Amino acid sequence: MDAQDRYRNERKWMVENTIAARGVRDERVLSAIAELPRHLFVQHEDREDAYADHPLPVGCGQTISQPYIVALMTELLHLSGDEKVLEIGTGSGYQAALLGMLAREVHTIEQHAELSEHAQKVILSLGIKNIHFHTGDGSLGLSTQAPFDGIIVTAGAPLIPQPLLDQLTDGGRLVIPVGSRFSQDLQLWWRDGKKYDSESICPVVFVPLRGRHGWDGEKPGELTREG
Ligand code: SAH
Repeated sequence: MDAQDRYRNERKWMVENTIAARGVRDERVLSAIAELPRHLFVQHEDREDAYADHPLPVGCGQTISQPYIVALMTELLHLSGDEKVLEIGTGSGYQAALLGMLAREVHTIEQHAELSEHAQKVILSLGIKNIHFHTGDGSLGLSTQAPFDGIIVTAGAPLIPQPLLDQLTDGGRLVIPVGSRFSQDLQLWWRDGKKYDSESICPVVFVPLRGRHGWDGEKPGELTREG
């Protein structure tokens, strides 16, 4: 069996035994994950570990999230294929690539230019063309492209950034980990006219969301002091 077949089998195993088995039901999400080569988004020395259900380092002190959590967060966006979506925290580009397979247009923002450039290369090599890469402070959202049908934040925020709520379409959904520096609550927010509703999904652990509406903002000083 060649390496590509082996990776394909490992992906199929991962989808059935760690993602569907834990309750993710959206068939479009499951089949996109079964297609997308996660091993190309991790560091070379971690490729053999790419289909185990845990996060892995991607450089600049950042991580690619655990596959089950990526699947769960993606499912929560309820994508049918025609949406405009914003991701905060491009990282390896894996989540962005998945969104590109499931939505019409994706914008993704990363604070580290180096990570963004690497992610772009991998995604282009896969022929996924509906993703727009931005570098900067994603805690501000992306007002020039708003509104979005879905916004997904892949870093832990101390509070819900108000600009993200403001940049949702009516009916739009925001998926975001919110909480302390070391553990967060995954939350789903949705807009209904001028009202917002939210639901708590499960405990998660993400690297910190930096920036004005992240841990560098006015209220939480913890990370700012660490530099
Ligand atoms: N979605 C990624 C994993 C992201 S890890 C993947 O699929 O691989 C979180 C990322 O958020 C890190 O790359 C970090 O640099 C980035 N990040 C943190 N705060 C940010 C901010 N305010 N603006 C943009 N990117 C941010």
